[in-house]
Amino acid sequence: MNAHPTSTIENEHSELRGLRLSVFESAPLPMALVGGVGHILRYANQAFCGLLGLTKEELVGRPLREVVPKNDKCVALIDRVLCTGKPASHTEEEHWKTHPLFWSYTIWPVASDKEPEEVMIQVTETAQLREKTLAMNEALILGSLRQHELTEIADASNALLQIEVDQRKQAEDSLREAQALLTERAGQLDGLVAERTAELTATNKQLEAFVYSIAHDLRAPLRAMQGYSGVLVEEAKESLNETSLEYAHRINKSAQFMDAMLIDLLAFSRINQQAVELTSVSLGSSIDRVLSGLQKGIQEKNARVESPGPWPFVMAHESTLAQVLSNLVSNALKFVRIDVPTVMRLRAEEKAPFTRIWVEDNGIGIEADHQEQIFRLFSRLDGEKYGGTGVGLAIVQKGVERMGGRVGVESRPGEGSHFWFELLTAPSNL
Ligand code: ADP
Repeated sequence: MNAHPTSTIENEHSELRGLRLSVFESAPLPMALVGGVGHILRYANQAFCGLLGLTKEELVGRPLREVVPKNDKCVALIDRVLCTGKPASHTEEEHWKTHPLFWSYTIWPVASDKEPEEVMIQVTETAQLREKTLAMNEALILGSLRQHELTEIADASNALLQIEVDQRKQAEDSLREAQALLTERAGQLDGLVAERTAELTATNKQLEAFVYSIAHDLRAPLRAMQGYSGVLVEEAKESLNETSLEYAHRINKSAQFMDAMLIDLLAFSRINQQAVELTSVSLGSSIDRVLSGLQKGIQEKNARVESPGPWPFVMAHESTLAQVLSNLVSNALKFVRIDVPTVMRLRAEEKAPFTRIWVEDNGIGIEADHQEQIFRLFSRLDGEKYGGTGVGLAIVQKGVERMGGRVGVESRPGEGSHFWFELLTAPSNL
């Protein structure tokens, strides 16, 4: 270090001097000691050298005005401090290469026994602080502007939201009103349906009673027609010619057919009207009774009947079940193929909670298209050829339905028919 011989720092007690020098030397702010009338730089710390881009050797011993450009104000300030003995500071702007620099000088006298003839200058570069302050101010202004914009946007959004909330509330109110109206209408409709159903049931009952009484009442004149035509054929067969005799025969046969229809119609009507109370019925016993009742027909057809069992108990109305079984077995014996021995098989299949009862034959079979219509009243496919009124299967369907079950058929023409009906299995079997 190139120290000036008259420097107060240099003249200090060596220990204190060493400490003070090390403090100045390592200070982060630029500091320099200036003294004498010529304002000679007597000491400059590393930060000061760094600030001016010169070495200590290049600085110390030179007048301040040589090393610090535009230093008028600084020099004047040094003189003032030297004169007054009081510290002073000053800030000035300087264009340093590309950007403005703000320098702040703080100058204080270095005390000695005599008048102060040296001052310490401490320089602070405030450009960054100013820039940062400017940037901060700018950011604050922008922030407040932005906040203003955001507040406006938030207000607008809130207004929109409020509209939406109002609209939604309106929609909810309308929906609630519509629902209330709907419930009211549904209630009215339910009442109306119940009323109409009751009316319809009553009308149906009246109609059924009417059909029953007509069928019943028609039988009396019909029997008379049947009787008189029979008597006519018997007693006047000598006096009538062949054609007239044939007519009398036809009248008699038609009356017989009509009577058979009325009997079946009455049976159908009865099944529809009677109270059907279900009890646990032994299927095996029912089938045995029906088969023995139809024994004559079975023998006439030389039919083989298989009913291996075991038979469960089902929930049924005993006489209705017997009627259903009897009609199905009768049909199996009626619609047979002449060229093959008649075989009929009865079996039970468990379809919990139901039992499905099959009545299968190897007869003429039924076209798929006709399998639904044959259950309708008076529907006959081969009636002319095989005889019958077309009421048997309608009775089967109605009877099974009244016992809470359902019916069906699986069949192919020429391959036989498999009729089935389902009834609830009696609890003792479950
Ligand atoms: P009906 O036997 O008095 O004619 P049904 O109602 O019992 O009356 O039967 C209706 C029609 O269904 C019959 O005319 C017949 O064409 C057909 N059918 C019923 N059972 C069988 C059967 N097992 N095989 C073939 N056809 C049948």
